[in-house]
Amino acid sequence: MQQLDHQFIDNRWVPSAGQRRLPVTNPYSEEVIAEVTVGDPADVDSAVAAARRALPAWRARSGAERAAYLEGFAEALTRRRDELIRLSSTNNGKVLAEAGIDLDDAIACYRYYAHQARELDHRQGRLVELEMDGVEARCYHDPVGVAGLITPWNFPLVTSAWKLAPALAAGCTVVLKPSEVTPLPERTLAEIAIEVDLPAGVLNLLYGDGEGVGAPLASHPGVDKVSFTGSNRVGEAVMRAAAERTADVSLELGGKSPILVMEDADPEQAADWVMAGIYSNAGQICSATSRLLVHDAIAEPLYAALAERIDDLTLGDPLAEGTDMGPLTSARQRDVVRAYLAIAEREGLSAVRDSRHRRLPDSGFFVAPTLYRDVPTQSRLWREEIFGPVLCARSVASEEEAIRQANDSDFGLAATVVSGDAERARRIGRALQAGSVWINGEQLVLPETGWGGFKRSGIGRELGPWGLSAYLAVKHLVGPVPS
Ligand code: NAD
Repeated sequence: MQQLDHQFIDNRWVPSAGQRRLPVTNPYSEEVIAEVTVGDPADVDSAVAAARRALPAWRARSGAERAAYLEGFAEALTRRRDELIRLSSTNNGKVLAEAGIDLDDAIACYRYYAHQARELDHRQGRLVELEMDGVEARCYHDPVGVAGLITPWNFPLVTSAWKLAPALAAGCTVVLKPSEVTPLPERTLAEIAIEVDLPAGVLNLLYGDGEGVGAPLASHPGVDKVSFTGSNRVGEAVMRAAAERTADVSLELGGKSPILVMEDADPEQAADWVMAGIYSNAGQICSATSRLLVHDAIAEPLYAALAERIDDLTLGDPLAEGTDMGPLTSARQRDVVRAYLAIAEREGLSAVRDSRHRRLPDSGFFVAPTLYRDVPTQSRLWREEIFGPVLCARSVASEEEAIRQANDSDFGLAATVVSGDAERARRIGRALQAGSVWINGEQLVLPETGWGGFKRSGIGRELGPWGLSAYLAVKHLVGPVPS
């Protein structure tokens, strides 16, 4: 069994200062595949000190030089594609096709920020247009400093790419803390750092949980910026810790995203998008479209099409070709979802499909793909993030009602609009309170477009130029026009 008892600091694997150990489990076989030693605050001190030492030389490099390292990451990930897909599948329970999409998204992100790093060189020192004569102002972008990057377990290689690539492009040095549930895929990033000869201390990686590493990292005086992806509960704690020293934070938090299906949509096509929005990655997607608002006129044909597709889903070994849905990533998450199913039972929700309609595989943290219809808007299942393969649906009488109910949520991460009229779909999309709105499609996330939420779904944006800005501080040099 693999022992993860070393931390990656200054380009070396050094013994962890922590004593506690946690098992890392294959969620399909339920076997323990590794053991991770939980780091402690002394590890955080060492990693932050290494990042601080590395900062002056790294920030002094040109964007083009930093871009070359990011290209190296993209190439190394590409070379390890098959191995990493299997590893994600083994540690997360992802089916092979989805693990492949994740990896390609991560690779695209490193490439995109290599390009952005080069562009940054051209942006430095640009003249600002002024009203005042005789004065010159030039704009520069400095890295914010040492960044603490904290990631969750549902998309380890993607969420780390969205932080690491722009942070390195900007000239920041980093301490990355992967989730203790899925520490294996991100380990590769440390191996790649050595492979591409990244200067020591630019990327440090710490294993541990929230108590041992996450909280000490978020509150460390040597960390200038914390970028966090995860739950609202922890995100708010991270923000409080950052507030103590006025440090910058970016938060990518939970969601309860709607999918609106209008009466002019084709129910069969709409059903495919609804399925992709909730049952991919066993529903463990922050942007899962987990609230279906369907127009009365096509509600029945849509529910029938969904029931048919849910029955056709193959649950099983995520490593096997032909599996559509793997297990949830942890027993803990399976139990969280089960607790919501028990609430649904107590609330008397009407299930189109649930565990009564299928036999689950003998091993693995599975939850049956579930669809409730006519869910009241005050139900906890309608309002709270479940983070599993549970779709809640209700029908609406008009476009206005669909928009109103879609926006009646604490969250605002994403949304989907399905309509036979693309113009109408875009109009509806403009009225929705969400960072990403998919028009006749699902879960298409591109490195060039921003990612992040309205309302309680977070603060700031990742991806696109906004993702780079999150690691840059703007500076102006202002003075008389040189003669
Ligand atoms: P989590 O909040 O439990 O953990 C996230 C990370 O924070 C882990 O690395 C964990 O070890 C660490 N952590 C725990 N306690 C901490 C503390 N006190 N201080 C600092 N760090 C701490 O979340 P999770 O269960 O790993 O992930 C699921 C959540 O992530 C869901 O709510 C999901 O919506 C959200 N998520 C959001 C996005 C997005 O882009 N908005 C993407 C993926 C996941």
